[in-house]
Amino acid sequence: MAKKDDCIFCKLANHVIETDYVYEDDLVCAFKDANPQAPVHVLVVPKDHYDNIVDDVPADVLAAMVHAVGEVARACGIDESGFRVIANTGEAAGQTVMHLHMHVLGGTRLGEESMGSE
Ligand code: 5GP
Ligand code: ZN
Repeated sequence: MAKKDDCIFCKLANHVIETDYVYEDDLVCAFKDANPQAPVHVLVVPKDHYDNIVDDVPADVLAAMVHAVGEVARACGIDESGFRVIANTGEAAGQTVMHLHMHVLGGTRLGEESMGSE
C-alpha cells in the first residue's frame, strides 16, 4: 500500500488524522472539504497515494472512487436533485493537493463556470 509521509490526504484517508467522514470502504474514503464551495462539498480520496487521475491508477481504485461518488450523493441527499463531480488535474486546472481526489458538489443550483455555487 503506497502512502506518502508528507501528504495530508494520505493521513486523512488512512485515519492518521481524523476528519468528518461521509463514506469509507477498503479502497477509498470520502470526507467533507475543509473550505466548502457549496452546501454539500465532499472529497472522494483513495487510501493509496496517486498524484492525480493520470498517475497509473488501478482500475479497481477508479471504480471504487466512482462507486463512492454515488454513495456520497445518497448519504448527502443530492442523488435526486443533482450534483457535480470534478477532478482537478495538474497545475493548469488548479490542483492544490497532489493526491488524487474527486470533488462532489451539490445542495444548490451550481453555476456553469465555477466549481461550486455562484
Ligand atoms: P484541489 O484544488 O486540489 O482540487 O482541491 C483541494 C481541496 O482540498 C480544496 O477544496 C481544499 O479546501 C481541500 N483541503 C485542503 N486541505 C484539506 C484538509 O486538511 N482537510 C480537508 N477536509 N480538506 C482539505
Ligand atoms: Zn497522498
